[in-house]
Amino acid sequence: MKECASRGGVWWISGGRLILVDARRRARWLPIIAFPHEEVLRKAFGEMIGVAGNLGCRPRLVFVESLAGSGGIYADGLIAVGLQDARQILEQVWAGNPATLIGRIRAVTGDAAMSIRQAANFLFVAVVARIIAHELGHAMRAQLGVRTPFSDEEAAADFIAGVLDGARGRDREIGRRIFRAIGCEALTCTHPTPYERAWAYVAGHEYASETA
Ligand SMILES: [Zn+2]
Repeated sequence: MKECASRGGVWWISGGRLILVDARRRARWLPIIAFPHEEVLRKAFGEMIGVAGNLGCRPRLVFVESLAGSGGIYADGLIAVGLQDARQILEQVWAGNPATLIGRIRAVTGDAAMSIRQAANFLFVAVVARIIAHELGHAMRAQLGVRTPFSDEEAAADFIAGVLDGARGRDREIGRRIFRAIGCEALTCTHPTPYERAWAYVAGHEYASETA
């Protein structure tokens, strides 16, 4: 599948930078960065694309330092992930219940002697992979018209992220904690609450497991 090309309205890539135009027509220039876990995440993205079906074109995946707390974005064939945003999510997930989380990570990886630092690295990759899965969910909605049981666009993308995780055999409990951590608890939210996000993700995961 060929990579999606910019149609020029919302994003461009030029000189190692991503140029993003927001709703108010302001352009942001964000340096594209390489980082140690990039290869493993691009491989995971390739697996997700394999599950996603024929998207027409493969979304372009880029990593930038920060997306100002958005985590990731999908726009017209582009998926961007903010690594600083992912680190903030990691801290929130970690703050929940570190002892059971480390136990879970050790069980999932089969590495009972895994250090806390190694577990944190595993969780960072897990967070970024879930951001990518959620944005790919938006891509599947926009490019394929995929429907879900959720009318809310964000919950629908969470459901699809669960489907992609379930189909790839990724751990539901770690995913559930990540989606709970990115839920919105503010008075004015564009994204669903922690409970709704975790629920949509788990529903997608169960759907994939049942239809596998
Ligand atoms: Zn979203």
